[in-house]
Amino acid sequence: MRPTDDFLSKSAHATANKEQRNAVYVHGQRYQEALGIARKQYKNEELAKDRAAYLKWKVTENLDKYLIDFEATLMRRGGRVVWAHDAETARKEILQLISKNGAQRVFKSKSMLSEEIELNSFLRGSSIEVIETDIGEYIVDVAAEAPFHMVNPAMHKTEKEIAGLLNAKIGTSMEADAEGITSDVREIMRSYFSKAAIDVCITGANFLIADSGMVAITENEGNIRMITALANTHIVIAGIDKIIPTLNDIDTFFPLLATYGTGQKITSYNSVIGPKTPDDYDAPAEFIVVLIDNGRTNLLAQPDQRQALSCIKCGACANVCPVYQVIGGHAYGVNNSGPIGAVTQPHEQGLDEFKHLSYASSLCGNCTQICPMKIDLHNHLLRNRRDSVQQGHAKSAEKLMWFSWKKMMLSRKNMNKGASIKNFMLKSFFKTAWGEDREFPKVAEKSFNQIWKESH
Ligand code: SF4
Repeated sequence: MRPTDDFLSKSAHATANKEQRNAVYVHGQRYQEALGIARKQYKNEELAKDRAAYLKWKVTENLDKYLIDFEATLMRRGGRVVWAHDAETARKEILQLISKNGAQRVFKSKSMLSEEIELNSFLRGSSIEVIETDIGEYIVDVAAEAPFHMVNPAMHKTEKEIAGLLNAKIGTSMEADAEGITSDVREIMRSYFSKAAIDVCITGANFLIADSGMVAITENEGNIRMITALANTHIVIAGIDKIIPTLNDIDTFFPLLATYGTGQKITSYNSVIGPKTPDDYDAPAEFIVVLIDNGRTNLLAQPDQRQALSCIKCGACANVCPVYQVIGGHAYGVNNSGPIGAVTQPHEQGLDEFKHLSYASSLCGNCTQICPMKIDLHNHLLRNRRDSVQQGHAKSAEKLMWFSWKKMMLSRKNMNKGASIKNFMLKSFFKTAWGEDREFPKVAEKSFNQIWKESH
């Protein structure tokens, strides 16, 4: 199925799913409440956002220099960088790193990039056992689903649903609440950690620090600290857009990510990790960063939209997006759902096949307003639409529709035509897109112009 058709069909399905919409709504309400409290920590929040946006802009405009700096400093510290220009190369490189260690099993932290390159299914297909150690990721993995949201992968699932899933997998009680579920998953993880040596762990990275060759990771569960302390080899997978200039910049980015990601002043565990030094007691002997492009340089090549590479993946734009709130994360059919995905994915995966995502917006500007990196999201969506038309991706039916719309809107005579003709025209063009589950609105019997004339 073409990505556009897949998107339309999943969206129609999700729109009718009241339980899911309710879960997203409740999450949104809780998020807003927590965000309001966390933001109070700032004396001058605008300054923090300006500073962060400037730092990421500087990196994006000089990405080649910063990436080389990062590699050089990491190598000086005893680590290694592996470059991967696409998903397939990344998967093969990672498999080779695992096989070289003779590992049969890898422990993973949550990483949206691993979803993007479809790492789990590839490794499992290559007889490597993959264990997700983040609870949200563990739940969607058991459910054989993609993450629903970049920060909260299982936010669409009710406690009951999760208890049911885990009952079949690890014997969790069907009546278990959130606390019981967490405790059961923790027990499972602890039993893994205490029984067997961890040969290889794979984590993502929130930031790659150019001047120190270190990787910054933030989390709430402590699972990353656990696996990175116990493993012999630590493989970090990161997009080339994750660079920040210096170690000092962490004090700008960690609180912003916590505030806008989960509504916390700071997340529970914040680590800056690098290769093992002689003073380290329990760090992995081998530290490798796999730097992945996978379409990011296509976005970098767009001077008008490359600002989107500043994204720190907090998920705030999805939390306030009226479209995301109705259709949820899975309908987008791409790794990064919500407004930021609608901006980046058409460039990273092909404008022709994914341009429809840039049309999935009300252009209300909620996303732009909340973004801590001040990314001009809704205008980037318009720029994507412009590019798609200029590059000839608009279909004939779409062109005809807009031609007719323009003709209609520019003619007073047409505007004053009877409601029945207008309703017929609207239904002919928009009924399918409007969906079966919603009643199609009807236009007023008389136009405003007619009413005005009659009353004056
Ligand atoms: S675009 Fe902005 S709000 Fe959306 S995930 Fe990225 S940083 Fe957060």
